[in-house]
Amino acid sequence: MELVGRLSQKFVLMHVSGIPVRADVRWLAVLLVISGVIAGGIAPITGSLAVAIALGLSATLVFFVSIFIHEFSHAAVARMEGLRVVEIVLHPFGGLTRFASEPDSPRAEFRVAIAGPAASFVLAVVFGAAAAAAEAAGLNVLSRLMLTLAIGNLLVAAFNMFPGYPLDGGRVLRAYLWRTGRNLTDATILTGRSGQWIAAALIAFGILLVIARQDLFTGLWAVIVGIFLYDAAGSIIREMNSASQVRVQDVMKLPAAVEPERTIHELVENILPMNRQPVIPVARDKQLFGMLLLAEIRELDPKAWHSTKVADVMRPVTAEHFVDLETTLIEAREAARTNGIGAVCVLNAEGKLVGVFRG
Ligand SMILES: [Zn+2]
Repeated sequence: MELVGRLSQKFVLMHVSGIPVRADVRWLAVLLVISGVIAGGIAPITGSLAVAIALGLSATLVFFVSIFIHEFSHAAVARMEGLRVVEIVLHPFGGLTRFASEPDSPRAEFRVAIAGPAASFVLAVVFGAAAAAAEAAGLNVLSRLMLTLAIGNLLVAAFNMFPGYPLDGGRVLRAYLWRTGRNLTDATILTGRSGQWIAAALIAFGILLVIARQDLFTGLWAVIVGIFLYDAAGSIIREMNSASQVRVQDVMKLPAAVEPERTIHELVENILPMNRQPVIPVARDKQLFGMLLLAEIRELDPKAWHSTKVADVMRPVTAEHFVDLETTLIEAREAARTNGIGAVCVLNAEGKLVGVFRG
């Protein structure tokens, strides 16, 4: 276990526009293996093993950069969609871009997911054109390397479109399931299962390649990638299942409520300085009347603060605004996400306000 733990350690390669780019230690082994394979392929043309190795290593580094561009495209689109990018991790099978939160909508999820394969496809076209140009100029070795990079990027684009987590196609599938009415948690678990099936198929395919075609390199490659995928898919399923055990009462905050007959002036003068929350429950004697959104108060003319009561500008309470103590964290998050407020109140069995949860 300790060895596995040490092997999966990540180190920070660089920061790109504030985003840490980490690589798995196993990437180094992959770098050497791919370099060796490419060098072996071009050695007969170059006539020199040293030149072939140098070119193989360079081409592999360019491929590595291609994977990074794929991941960075996810990160760039995610930022445009308002998501915070935690890190980019380069895995032996490509990469993963991790976000601080889930996208707000299936549409955002789809755009972020498709950005990577689209970038890889464009890179494949560019390298393909470069290969054709080099061929026309009689530069055989360069043409061969460019063609290898074109095929590599095309494979990355195609492979990532398989519909299972953690592949991009899995995120596209999740966006589709989400859009067609499933909640995000169910959609994530289903996508994870699909990812495990794809991983299992890949492992079986790899074993078949080794046995039936004696293709040790491609076969083992498929098995290793399959194991990584299976592991990643399994961990998202476990994460979702453990989140479903947590209740909103374990994570809610005590409510700092305001009474409906208070004026906005009183709120701004007396309550907000102590309690600056974007959403404030409106309640008297723990009886919930509505929700007040700080953003909506900001739009009010300050001259009207004295004459406007909290009850005049609050959102009157509806069923989407509250949950009970037994609600799971996942359901509470979903409710806060979809009710247009970004938070839910928590009521006890007597219907009294006992907590606030912000999604
Ligand atoms: Zn991707």
